[in-house]
Amino acid sequence: MRTIDFPPELRSFLHRTSKLAALTGAGVSQESGLRTFRDAQQGLWAQYKPEDLASPEAFARDPKLIWDWYTWRREAIKGVRPNPGHYALVEIEKQIPEFTLITQNVDGLHRMAGSQNVFELHGNIQLVRCSECGEFADEWDDDLESVPQCKACGGLLRPDVVWFGESLPLDQLEGAVEAARTCDVFFSVGTSGVVQPAASLAHAARNNGAVVVEINAELTSLTEKADFFFHGKSGEILPELVKALWS
Ligand SMILES: [Zn+2]
Repeated sequence: MRTIDFPPELRSFLHRTSKLAALTGAGVSQESGLRTFRDAQQGLWAQYKPEDLASPEAFARDPKLIWDWYTWRREAIKGVRPNPGHYALVEIEKQIPEFTLITQNVDGLHRMAGSQNVFELHGNIQLVRCSECGEFADEWDDDLESVPQCKACGGLLRPDVVWFGESLPLDQLEGAVEAARTCDVFFSVGTSGVVQPAASLAHAARNNGAVVVEINAELTSLTEKADFFFHGKSGEILPELVKALWS
């Protein structure tokens, strides 16, 4: 395994920082073997476009079809585990006085790994809430002929994910923006930087004087502007960073 050279300036920033925010995207989940949204549409789901399965209009048109698609995806996630990149972020959280993890991923793997202060911008596919009153459901029956209903109001249950055309959960978004604006170091990890408003968080951090570190297997629109860029898998680079800095 190659050893990564972490520049002395970066080491010094990381040793001094009291406030670090990290944004993670699909790349981090893919390293756990999770398929991307589009890749997940296999078999009988291949005939649908993402917006045909993940929009309020689609749910209104055919709630059972949408419910079944998410049940299928939840099942697919069951065998997936956090990877070394997830665990390295848990370690970093222990080292930095104020650490915020912001994720675009809906799989819940960061919480499963042990991250504490997490904002999930696009929701969490493991959680289910009422489409009418918003009440979360702890349990539901997946074997019904129809979509299970809310115990409080009888409304149809739906996954707690953000669909096309829906706004992001305000509390999560506000927490993420605040963390980006006030951090001294901002990590952008495995995110393509094309989905707004997550993509603007790195720029908000940079405009407020934070050191921006990008870790990505691909080059992105952020790469040229980042103060430090590490090309490769977060599951390899982050554990090495933890080892180099804090062990
Ligand atoms: Zn309800």
